[in-house]
Amino acid sequence: MSTIDQNLQAVHHSIAAAAAEAGRPAAGVALLAVSKTFGADAVLEAAAAGQRAFGENYLQEGVEKIAAVAAARPELKLEWHFIGPIQSNKTRPIAEHFDWVHTVEREKIAQRLSEQRPAGLAPLNVCLQVNISGEASKSGVAPEQLRALALRVAALPNLRLRGLMAIPEPEEVFARQRAAFARLRLLYEDLRAAGLALDTLSMGMSADLRAAVVEGASIVRVGSAIFGSRNYH
Ligand SMILES: *Cc1c(COP(=O)(O)O)cnc(C)c1O
Repeated sequence: MSTIDQNLQAVHHSIAAAAAEAGRPAAGVALLAVSKTFGADAVLEAAAAGQRAFGENYLQEGVEKIAAVAAARPELKLEWHFIGPIQSNKTRPIAEHFDWVHTVEREKIAQRLSEQRPAGLAPLNVCLQVNISGEASKSGVAPEQLRALALRVAALPNLRLRGLMAIPEPEEVFARQRAAFARLRLLYEDLRAAGLALDTLSMGMSADLRAAVVEGASIVRVGSAIFGSRNYH
């Protein structure tokens, strides 16, 4: 068994343990394997171990990797998630090559993604990135502006608004990790109460996966615990 295979099993085990702790079915938590900085070979190894959803942060690297993996194994049906910062002049390749985007924080970006989504493809799945750590983080829509943005994005024809995503400031203490994720969950529940059909809370990475699952994550984004530590970026 490869290291990636072993690591994937260990991560699935952690997810199952955290879900059990929270009285949730483990099947309600999807694992997104964050393959940024790792090559197509690492993706193929994870795919051989059964992993199907992969996350990329850097557009050019991601697009090249998607092509390399498709060339090597055209029969593999993988799902690609863009989880990095989005520049407004670089939306087209995201709309063309990815299945999901987790990092929409402005209406202008959402409009461009919707306009540029190729007609033959299913709507692009979108999560809004929320700034739940206040001034400590510059990325994400402010909670006070979230509802207005969500209503506008939900109305765009070629996007499907699925839910919310956040990257809280790193915290060592479990209770503080939980508190940040609980804030995102409350915002999510508010939007659902307002009538939006959301089903996705994208939260939790290698270091805070347990807190995120306990607070209701439906997608955890895990990189280093699967592929090892990154050497650059
Ligand atoms: C890199 C990254 C991850 C994965 O982080 P790890 O600590 O390696 O698990 C998850 N989400 C986003 C947005 C990232 O940029």
